[in-house]
Amino acid sequence: MAAMQQQLDFIAYIQRMLAEGDFSATYKFALLHAIADVCVEHPLQQPDSELVITLDELVDKLILLYWHHAVPFAADSNGDAALLKQNAGRQSKVISVLYECQQNNIRNIRQLKLSQYWPAIYRATLATLKDGPLWRLQILSKQAECFLYPHSNSSKFIKLNPGIAYSFRRFYDLVVYLAKNAWLQKIQSIKDNQKLLGAQSQLHEFLFGVDRNALNKARPVLIEIQRGLCFYCHKPLKDQSSADVDHFIPFARYSTDLGHNFVAAHSGCNNSKRDYLAAQVHRDNWQQQNLVQHAAVLSTELAAYFFCDAAKSLAVSDWAYGVAQANGAKLWLNKDEFVVAGAAQHVQANPVTMSIAPVAANDAPAITAADDSLRLCYFPNLKIACGHFKTGNISEAEQWPAPTGFGTLNPAKHFLARASGNSMAGGKNPILDGQLLLLELISPTSAGSLQNCTVAIERQDQSGDNQYLLRDVKKIADGQYLLLAKNADYPPLAADETMRTFARLKGIVE
Ligand SMILES: [Zn+2]
Repeated sequence: MAAMQQQLDFIAYIQRMLAEGDFSATYKFALLHAIADVCVEHPLQQPDSELVITLDELVDKLILLYWHHAVPFAADSNGDAALLKQNAGRQSKVISVLYECQQNNIRNIRQLKLSQYWPAIYRATLATLKDGPLWRLQILSKQAECFLYPHSNSSKFIKLNPGIAYSFRRFYDLVVYLAKNAWLQKIQSIKDNQKLLGAQSQLHEFLFGVDRNALNKARPVLIEIQRGLCFYCHKPLKDQSSADVDHFIPFARYSTDLGHNFVAAHSGCNNSKRDYLAAQVHRDNWQQQNLVQHAAVLSTELAAYFFCDAAKSLAVSDWAYGVAQANGAKLWLNKDEFVVAGAAQHVQANPVTMSIAPVAANDAPAITAADDSLRLCYFPNLKIACGHFKTGNISEAEQWPAPTGFGTLNPAKHFLARASGNSMAGGKNPILDGQLLLLELISPTSAGSLQNCTVAIERQDQSGDNQYLLRDVKKIADGQYLLLAKNADYPPLAADETMRTFARLKGIVE
């Protein structure tokens, strides 16, 4: 099991490295590829073995990987040929020296090694490796996290931590695929290369990119609901027409445009956030702004351009933050700060405000369902609204046989009532109009966590009558809960202090 966990951690780390690393040049992709190559070439004694890799080996691999990149590239036979840049600034040293050798009729690596040029190339590549990627590959969100190998700063070798070589061998295809793909995209993103690459440089963007025109449609409504302020730093967006429309859950993580996933921000804030997930405080604000307060207006304004479903946006964000937390990922707070996902956030198992409703048969002893004489209260006038709040009362109660198949039932806690309406007629376990529901009263001490439970909410209408509503509970922040319908036609509802969680749905009685 420990080995299994380490392999999951390994994959999670590689994902984080590509999301949180700073890749201004392609060297780190090359190094990742090189380490993976070396791992499969060494016989491994044990799954948890350490592996020493000399810098000589890595230099060899890097030269091999860059050899073909030092050939001038032309997009078509008529075009000018030139070297592709491997970073945004000057051409990288390794490429320049390899290019020089090729100009001097060195045709392959074997010839290169035997040539007079080898010592100079070796030195240049080693210097690049040591100054660049070797001690920087593992800097994630501006902090070193030495999961693969310690930063010993040795000038001779690195030593892979126990089990790392095994993981590289096991997931070689995946790691190399990710490294190559990221490398390719880096080359395509460098401005100087785009003229040379022509239409090809736009291919990834064309196939998998963001529709910028559609994004612009979201700007006015976002600026309006944000009252002209940047979502992240809350300072005014001076030039509103050039404010960025940011994917709150980064497009690189989840590449479907959902109408509720946008916020307006300064391009400076947006560029700094890049493909990071935003910190919990931003997440809370986003949920409050886009999923609670302005959910409906966003749907109305953006439905023509994007798929709009607040509950789906919430589900995607829960997934993204769940993964981030499991991986110990860093979340972006502002231009200078990151926070660890899930740190210092404790879920309180006390949603909404708990109170027990005045239901009959309070002190009856618990009886097991095996006793077929067990009776539960059925309230014919208590309609649990699956729609909008419905008035109901419990003045009339009938004694009905307890349903079987629901474990131990207690007449003091369990009762029966009918669903009314179709807001819960969706999802995996739809609740249909008129179905008989088995409900369990909740008391402050028995509540536990109601996160993701289906609950009946009680509140008083203006004339003082009780109203009841059935919804799924979703915690969105400390002390804040969203009540979700299973049917997407009904928007999420923010729980407030007028509501009491009254009972939990135990099952549908067929
Ligand atoms: Zn800002």
